[in-house]
Amino acid sequence: MVAVTATGGKARGPARQQPAAKSGSLIERKLLHLGLRDPSDFVVHLPIRYEDETQVRPILSVYPGAPAQVEGEVIRSEVQFRPRRQLHAVIDDGTGQLALRWLNFYPSQQKQVAEGKRVRVRGEVRSGFGGYEMVHPRVTVAGAALPDALTPVYPTTDGLSQASLRKAIDQALGVADLSDTLPQEICERYGLIPFAEAIRVLHHPPPNVSYNQLIERGHPAWTRIKFDELLAQQLSLAAARAARRRQRARPLAGDRGDLVQALLRRLPFTLTAAQERVIGEISRDLSRSFPMHRLLQGDVGSGKTIVAAFAAAQAISSKSQVAIMAPTELLAEQHFQKLVGWLEPLGITVAWLTGSLAAKARKAAGEAIESGRAQLVIGTQALIQDKVSFANLGLVILDEQHRFGVGQRLELSRKGEDSEGSLAMLPHQLSMSATPIPRTLAMSFFADLDVSVIDELPPGRRPVLTKLVADTRRDEVLGHVVAEVRQGRQAYWVCPLVEESEALQLQTAVDTHARLVLALPDMHVGLIHGRLPTAAKQQVMQDFRDGAVDLLVATTVIEVGVDVPNASLMIIEHAERFGLAQLHQLRGRVGRGSRQSVCVLMYQAPLSAVARQRLRAMYETADGFEIARRDLEQRGPGEFLGVRQSGQELLRFASIETDAMIVEQAQEAARDLRDRYPEHARAHLQRWMRGKQDFLRS
Ligand code: ADP
Ligand code: MG
Repeated sequence: MVAVTATGGKARGPARQQPAAKSGSLIERKLLHLGLRDPSDFVVHLPIRYEDETQVRPILSVYPGAPAQVEGEVIRSEVQFRPRRQLHAVIDDGTGQLALRWLNFYPSQQKQVAEGKRVRVRGEVRSGFGGYEMVHPRVTVAGAALPDALTPVYPTTDGLSQASLRKAIDQALGVADLSDTLPQEICERYGLIPFAEAIRVLHHPPPNVSYNQLIERGHPAWTRIKFDELLAQQLSLAAARAARRRQRARPLAGDRGDLVQALLRRLPFTLTAAQERVIGEISRDLSRSFPMHRLLQGDVGSGKTIVAAFAAAQAISSKSQVAIMAPTELLAEQHFQKLVGWLEPLGITVAWLTGSLAAKARKAAGEAIESGRAQLVIGTQALIQDKVSFANLGLVILDEQHRFGVGQRLELSRKGEDSEGSLAMLPHQLSMSATPIPRTLAMSFFADLDVSVIDELPPGRRPVLTKLVADTRRDEVLGHVVAEVRQGRQAYWVCPLVEESEALQLQTAVDTHARLVLALPDMHVGLIHGRLPTAAKQQVMQDFRDGAVDLLVATTVIEVGVDVPNASLMIIEHAERFGLAQLHQLRGRVGRGSRQSVCVLMYQAPLSAVARQRLRAMYETADGFEIARRDLEQRGPGEFLGVRQSGQELLRFASIETDAMIVEQAQEAARDLRDRYPEHARAHLQRWMRGKQDFLRS
């Protein structure tokens, strides 16, 4: 990154032809684009970094990759035409020479570096063809007074120069309310400096401030800002929680509980203690008159589906409808089969709704849902379409919730709203996920969510053995498949991800299947991918479940949820292309029976450092929480939570990885503030959370 200020000229160009008043509005528009309107917005628009312009360095001492400020005489200045038109100048300060280059330039800039002029230039030094150079440096006259403090550099937008932004911020600082939103007692308890002081230090660092502390955000001024930001987040989560308690939901206490008892009697296995505990937690929530908002976390294979069945049984025995939504048709189909198996014998009517349903079947399903005849509805995203309306939806269950977008989650929970104004009844909501969310992350981002955890696998499971194998050893791997199938077991062969194109990915799956059919002539090799017609998909899965297919070649459609306990071997081709969470999910497809299962991660050398780290993590641990922790470390919270698309940065100043302690303090302080200083809490939210409440609500 070079020359932060190079955009200033562009902003001036068009503005000059406009009446004076309009030039203000251009800048205003740019400022608005950054979310800066009121003085209080400018106050917390804080520098992303600082530049040290307090010194002029000898040219001899500059080095590439770092910003520098030097002064010298222009000894050459010319417009060159190769490889394209550009302004080229060289300065000399007696210790050395430095080249300057502009790919676009104004005549005024050319004059500024005319031969013989003495100039001060500032920019990032790079290695050029004939030595060190600066591209688009900032140029001023030499010898001007040097600032005695660090210069802040603000996040900006195209066409808004640092100088204009700085001026606007300074103006706002003059009129803004910098009074403290924290009571003295809280500041003292956590050793926080006053807000006004923190703001002043960050916008105008005093001469003696530690550059490193400021840059690394370890300065007490930064600590105060991070605390404030995290506190605001906690306060708004608490506000969301309080708001939910004021909402109403139909209590689903499972009146006589007979369905639940009947289900318990029919189970082919005994529930684990963890399953019993979370079923209890959900059952209590369901019997309340405000909506449940609970996340059920449990590693792959921990048995979440049966927990959902119990929740459904309780809701249905309270004369309420239940919807279960899965992210893929394949998974929805599997749930349908399982739940029909468990619940239809109890006299429950189960309906099925996905996008690929034929019009007639779809209409029939729609009618069953609308009339209330369908007590349980299982499906995909199609469930949240406008056309589907429920008679009395009381409970919504989202499986693999992390695969749904924030918006979709909101929409489904709105389904149950009836439009009688303030008396609107909301459905209870249960989300399930095998991607565990580390504690600090859950604490700081999950709007108002109670969390239940299944921390125990059903008995008799053996951890999956993971092997890393270079793809040059493909023959060995094939031998492995043959041996496994000879013993009556089954295997998955997962085809590589092809990010660039879905068509290519499909082709790869088809090719892989063809090759494996040839290589393994006396084996039944099946193929499943996203583009297969639904009926064909269902048939293949059914064949695999029945054992009629020995080896299932698959794309990542099988990533989540698929449950075939007799499958004990998984091959993942080009494992280096998959993300950590994805690999963990895929591996979770095996190890579901009582026999030793194996997951072979085939990779193509050479591996990038990140890919190696990922594969090593897979090899080293089978613990979903540990995997999630490492995944978070590698990808950062935004991507991890899949909220990048919301366009909103989650946190601007604090980082939940490095500021875990402040997260805890902020949570504690939020409770205190709400209990004892409600006025302060309100003022604090006002300062920090304007316009951001919506995101947190989902
Ligand atoms: P996940 O948590 O990944 O969704 P599933 O609900 O698909 O896991 O359950 C995985 C497998 O374990 C299924 O075959 C399920 O029937 C079985 N299972 C669930 N609970 C138990 C239990 N308590 N004892 C034995 N098997 C169980
Ligand atoms: Mg599942």
